[in-house]
Amino acid sequence: MKLAARVLRIGESATMKVTRRAAELRARGVDVISFGAGEPDFASPAVAVEAARESLAAGFTKYTAATGIEDLRRALLDRYRRLWGAPWGALAQAAITVGAKAALFELALAVVDDGDEVIIPSPCWVSFPDQVRLCGGTPVLVPSHAGDGFRIRADGILAAMTPATRAVVVNSPCNPTGGMIERDDLRRIVEGAAARGILVVSDETYERFVYDGPAFVSCAAFAADHPETVVVVGSFSKTYAMTGWRIGYAVGPPAVLAGVAAIQSHATSNPTSFAMTGALAALEGAEADVRAMIEEFRVRRDLVVHALNAIPGITCRPPAGAFYAFPRVAERYRDGEGSVEFAERLLEDARVAVVPGAAFADDAHVRLSFACSREDLREGLTRIARALDQD
Ligand code: PLP
Repeated sequence: MKLAARVLRIGESATMKVTRRAAELRARGVDVISFGAGEPDFASPAVAVEAARESLAAGFTKYTAATGIEDLRRALLDRYRRLWGAPWGALAQAAITVGAKAALFELALAVVDDGDEVIIPSPCWVSFPDQVRLCGGTPVLVPSHAGDGFRIRADGILAAMTPATRAVVVNSPCNPTGGMIERDDLRRIVEGAAARGILVVSDETYERFVYDGPAFVSCAAFAADHPETVVVVGSFSKTYAMTGWRIGYAVGPPAVLAGVAAIQSHATSNPTSFAMTGALAALEGAEADVRAMIEEFRVRRDLVVHALNAIPGITCRPPAGAFYAFPRVAERYRDGEGSVEFAERLLEDARVAVVPGAAFADDAHVRLSFACSREDLREGLTRIARALDQD
């Protein structure tokens, strides 16, 4: 069967592949510890579960508006107005989506034409470049660097803007590096983009997971001055440990959101009705759950970074945010190895799954999620140290 050319431009998501391989090994009885998935090991908040259960029992099981239930859209718009002064008032400026992933894909479909360029600071989340490729566009990667904690800076991004640039995708805190962007850099990017008619898509999936470094700044803070330029994408997956519920959203200018709404009306229709009810309950009543999770992740971050740095030839700066360690491991490569072969060796010899940095456009590093239990972290890191000790 001949497949469409666009499929040949992309591969399976590397993070999902690692998770799948670890699950396959487990199913065969192999005791694998997986640091692959970016998925909190916490339970979804009880208020969300209860609200969804009640909603389901009450028969809230039909189609909703394609862009989701009004109460949730309204609550999100209010939140951005209250916290960041965003000028978003009309319901049509918010779309609830099937996870942030769908929001980002629909945005790419809405703004990227064949040959258009999209600037993405790298290392970057696996799906950003492939979503752009699927839409016929060209990802333009602008490197950030380990030396300053992978801080995302305006200069490189502004320099990469050309007449073909349609959008910039910023992700702070960043998956996989944990690097962040400072307010002034974000402001300069938005101003530069606004002057050239470029859209800034700010993926704020990890907004709550900030440990130190600069305070998180939402791109929504610049929407009042540049209302046509800023789109914010968010997710309930990580903040509320609700990955399987598949609820995310996009908020921003009416014209762009109208494009997203039209695409979604053909692609998925509404996200699951009662999952949205649960998400609204989480937004309104799960702050204590969120804070407890972040405090636990802070402890895990320190544990992982300390254990990684104790392994000869591995260096890891504490990530400012998100819940991934992104150590440099290239000094431990054998001849001919890159991050893919190194990760395969760890799976083989240590029974530990990590994601090769190549998946994030950086072959000198690997990514370890610390959204798993302290016991798993200790055991997995001991296994890695032991396996590498044999070298
Ligand atoms: N954006 C980033 C940077 C992510 O790391 C992820 C998930 O790993 C997503 C978006 C997707 O989140 P969701 O589960 O809401 O689709």
